[in-house]
Amino acid sequence: MDLTKEVAENVKWLSNIGADPTGGTTRLLYSDFWLEAQNGVKQRLSDIGMVTSFDAIGNLFGRLEGSKYPTETILTGSHIDTVVNGGKLDGQFGVISSYLAVKYLKEQYGTPLRSLEVISMAEEEGSRFPFAFWGSKNLMGLAKKEDVSEIADFNGVKFVDAMRNAGFDFKDEEETLRKDIKAFLEIHIEQGNVLELENKSVGVVTSIVGQKRYTMILKGQANHAGTTPMKYRKDAIYGFSKICSQSIDKARLVGEPLVLTFGKVEPKPNTVNVVPGEVLFTMDCRHTDQNILNDFTAEIEEDMHQIADELGLELTVDLWMDETPIPMDKKMIEVIKNVAEKEGINYRMMHSGAGHDSQIIAPQIPTGMIFVPSIDGISHNPAEDTKLEDLVEGVKTMALVLYELAYVD
Ligand SMILES: [Zn+2]
Repeated sequence: MDLTKEVAENVKWLSNIGADPTGGTTRLLYSDFWLEAQNGVKQRLSDIGMVTSFDAIGNLFGRLEGSKYPTETILTGSHIDTVVNGGKLDGQFGVISSYLAVKYLKEQYGTPLRSLEVISMAEEEGSRFPFAFWGSKNLMGLAKKEDVSEIADFNGVKFVDAMRNAGFDFKDEEETLRKDIKAFLEIHIEQGNVLELENKSVGVVTSIVGQKRYTMILKGQANHAGTTPMKYRKDAIYGFSKICSQSIDKARLVGEPLVLTFGKVEPKPNTVNVVPGEVLFTMDCRHTDQNILNDFTAEIEEDMHQIADELGLELTVDLWMDETPIPMDKKMIEVIKNVAEKEGINYRMMHSGAGHDSQIIAPQIPTGMIFVPSIDGISHNPAEDTKLEDLVEGVKTMALVLYELAYVD
């Protein structure tokens, strides 16, 4: 099997399903393109002798029954949905890689001892409806009907109607969770520039960062920019700029892997000749260590209140996302690392700064994750790309890890 040719052909094929005339690939949950892609993957899995099935909500499975331990399943895969004008690799490369790794293993070594399953997860991005990880949360029994029963997409189509139109429905919430899955392995593009800058082909993921997201409102007093003397101003933007620069200075001192971003800033009235009376801003903070993340954000919050008090401003803080860091399984990390070392794969250990399906699965199933580099770190963009030889190294690494997990007694 010519792995390089197969990787190139499959990436091209899958990313063309939902090719968007305005750029990249747009394949949103339960859309026609989404269904076409899931059915296309189903066909390819079945062509290599896997038994395929959908679960109630549209996660696709391909199964190769183990000869010696059929009730022990090694699961591998990623998500099939994309963001709007997404790239050709986010999610879909993970699905292709799992498929090609199993195809390769089956050709080389025949039936595995443990069952091997490929999963093409229904949804991860939260791009059509305001709900993310629909696929993995259903797999793990963490999704509830009420989470999505009221939500609709940007055209007003209700989640429930879109799901039923595509031929799927809610999962029976009484249904017991699968006990046979012994390990989960996901490969994904890094979506950052660390591997590329360090000239590595593969990243062995140690953990996925925890993240907190806030929206703050800083209130002062809007007033005439000409007639209000500096000492009588309650300038919300002045307060924000102090908060922003002081917090980022502190974040730089803490160092990696802490990241802090003030990504959205909306001053009011946002006019050239009025002292800004109010500013709404967001803060996104991430770290792999929960204690450091908690301590740092608590300190920053205290600083903000202090700055607001000094300037006579009012501050409200809304913490609306608080995700804990998720470590990958120690044994899985070891297996991936050992394979990379034995095969002379150019790798490094690293954490993930972005969220992935693996973080939903890892708390309940031993989970490992492999990264391949992203050119210029670009993702969620039609320019998203990875060198073909790095993609191939990723698939190779995945196949070797699956071999250790499913073929070795
Ligand atoms: Zn993804």
